[in-house]
Amino acid sequence: MADKKPAPSLDFLRAIVAEHLRAGRYDTIVTRFPPEPNGYLHIGHAKSIVLNHGIAQETGGRFHLRFDDTNPETENLEYVESIVDAVKWLGADWGEHLYFASDYFEEMYAFAEHLITQGKAYVDSSTEEEIREARGTVTEPGRPTAFRDRSVEENLDLFRRMRAGEFANGAHVLRAKIDLASPNMLMRDPVIYRIRHAHHYRTGDRWCIYPLYDYAHPIEDALECITHSLCTLEFENNREFYDWLVEGIPVPCRPYQYEFARLALDYTITSKRKLRQLVEGGHVSGWDDPRMPTLVGIRRRGVTPEALRAFCEMVGVTKANTRVDAGKFDYAVRDDLNRRAPRVLCVLRPLRVVLTNYPEDRVEELEAPYWPHDVPNEGSRMLPFSRELFIDRDDFLENPPKGFFRLSPGAEVRLRYAYVIRCDEVVRDERGEVVELRCSYDEATRGGSTPDGRQVKGTIQWVSAAHALPCEVRLYDRLFTVPDPEVGEGDFKDYLNPESLVVVQGARIEPGVRSDPAGSRYQFERLGYFCSDPVDSKPDALVFNRTVTLRDTWAKAAQPAPKVDAAPKAERKKKDAPGDGAAPRAKAPAAESARTPELEARRARYVAELGISAVEADVLTRAADFADFFDATVHLGASPKSVASWIVNVLVVELKERGINEIAFGPAELHRLIALVEDGTISSGAGRTVLAEMAREGGAPDAIVEARGLRQVNDPGAIAPAVDEVIAANAAKAEEYRGGKTGLLGFFVGQVRQKTGGSANPEVVKALLVERLGG
Ligand code: ATP
Ligand code: MG
Repeated sequence: MADKKPAPSLDFLRAIVAEHLRAGRYDTIVTRFPPEPNGYLHIGHAKSIVLNHGIAQETGGRFHLRFDDTNPETENLEYVESIVDAVKWLGADWGEHLYFASDYFEEMYAFAEHLITQGKAYVDSSTEEEIREARGTVTEPGRPTAFRDRSVEENLDLFRRMRAGEFANGAHVLRAKIDLASPNMLMRDPVIYRIRHAHHYRTGDRWCIYPLYDYAHPIEDALECITHSLCTLEFENNREFYDWLVEGIPVPCRPYQYEFARLALDYTITSKRKLRQLVEGGHVSGWDDPRMPTLVGIRRRGVTPEALRAFCEMVGVTKANTRVDAGKFDYAVRDDLNRRAPRVLCVLRPLRVVLTNYPEDRVEELEAPYWPHDVPNEGSRMLPFSRELFIDRDDFLENPPKGFFRLSPGAEVRLRYAYVIRCDEVVRDERGEVVELRCSYDEATRGGSTPDGRQVKGTIQWVSAAHALPCEVRLYDRLFTVPDPEVGEGDFKDYLNPESLVVVQGARIEPGVRSDPAGSRYQFERLGYFCSDPVDSKPDALVFNRTVTLRDTWAKAAQPAPKVDAAPKAERKKKDAPGDGAAPRAKAPAAESARTPELEARRARYVAELGISAVEADVLTRAADFADFFDATVHLGASPKSVASWIVNVLVVELKERGINEIAFGPAELHRLIALVEDGTISSGAGRTVLAEMAREGGAPDAIVEARGLRQVNDPGAIAPAVDEVIAANAAKAEEYRGGKTGLLGFFVGQVRQKTGGSANPEVVKALLVERLGG
């Protein structure tokens, strides 16, 4: 039983592909990513690339990169080059399979003549307006224009003369001849060719007629023998024409189209057209502005291709359009950078500290590890320490509130990897501003420990004034202030976040980073993940971009309309966070807990970043393998909150004294189970039954659902008879309900559920009852 290792659950597209391979329908799966070179790729395209490339790679198939360049007026080589770069950067390898739709113009033309000869296409000389008008509406069928019944000869002659350049733009179009009464508007004789006397970036002036997307795309797929043509949901209605076309022309292969949901990410937009407005309107510095959701922007911000791919996989593939929480993206970025970015010290807004009891000319070298203990990397550097230092202005308060553990007059604080210091005196300028702190250091605390055991709660970062490098730090934040800038009143640009970039001049960073190449990534302790700007950073003029903060500062600020105070965002971080340099803590650990620091950090991260309740986070981090199981399930794409809830409320109860490694199923099965509940295949009650059985005996959720007949019935048509029977059998109660005793609804729902053996979806039952009892 324990050796049963069911395959990880597949998304619906991968399930289709797997079935086709199993059934022998194809030997080789061929997918493609077909961008139109009319702009830069954005994060939505990344989802499509990762999906298409992933399916080809996992099945040993082929992945094509094809430019869908059939529109001469908007496309150019600059876009082609940037797209090639971006796809390569993401790690999707097309091998030798790079194609251009414009290379198929001759074939496309030949297929159009073929359609004409078959009586399946005609030249229409009506104006655009007339064609639109005659096409009808959703409620009214279309009418033929005066040209629909032209003879094959006349059509061929006109079409050839269109190609020869005899006519002006708009004089004629070629239309497919299908069905003017079709309920699908796209089947009402769609235009497939139009005249455009325009220069094409690849074919030059060779053509003055150009195919429309709906006509060109299926032919491109068919000529390349694409097996699965994956596109976003808005193309669902185009599928009928796709099929009509590839079945009506002599192409070498028969591709099929499948649709999946677009990626839409909160606090950003994914539309090339709108992104262009931001660039052209000067709202950002260019397509590669680190705030842009373009791949060049994301890359410049410091995100790695691995993190972006992990994000795309985490989001998964579905058929329902939903928006993705921006926190998910940040999570993927942090998770990746945590393992990759060495920790360094940087002071954003320097405040001079003079150690009055430290010898003037002494410079010590203190060893400082680059990595925390829970990251499997090693290495350290020597930090120069001297009499004059800088600390961050934020880390000093003259009148500290209770719970402020950093520096204040008379108080002690630990300098990371160095000594404990005490603030003895505050020096001001003539305007009363604090310009310097005079402090004393405790020689016995080298390395940060206190041999006498006294408590020093706070630890802060610092740099040696004479050695540190000045630098510019660009604090990037979300580009918009609302999750969906496209739905509000007015223009999406009205919701631009004025604080999306705060530039800090005159920051100071430890000297060792000078020789690192541009684009290097770091964690600035307590401040976030940063990278040196690949464009503007120079060894003698360092510039750093904030890639992501250390934790989600928005989740907490997400109360109605976050009030923006005068201080830049960086100064608004929680004032009492103990700066120990590790992941910031959400809350002190429970007294009896024997967690390792690593588990403690994870517990804090679950609460702060994933929004897990403290109680659940406690349970999840009671052992490392437990937390690993949770992380792995979340990594597969399940929502952290539901995973936590299923583990804590159901699984733990079933486990009793057993460890998580003693059960005969893994994260993939838990993920699958949650998906079955969330998509309504089974009720959550049935989900508990299944998980309990999995915990006891192992096995795959789908198999248990089938074996126990737990599939939930969602189809109202199938439930209605039981509803009617129950109402008929309880006529008196039904009367009472109609007379106002609506509390009886629960009784009726229970009766119907009983009658259906518990299989009827209670929401559907309720809706049917209300409908039938209400009338
Ligand atoms: P935009 O609306 O931003 O202009 P597009 O769909 O017109 O995007 P194309 O260059 O035509 O851009 O798209 C190339 C491929 O990327 C298409 O297969 C398209 O379905 C896919 N794609 C575009 N946007 C998204 C998205 N947000 N999520 C997933 N796939 C996307
Ligand atoms: Mg498009």
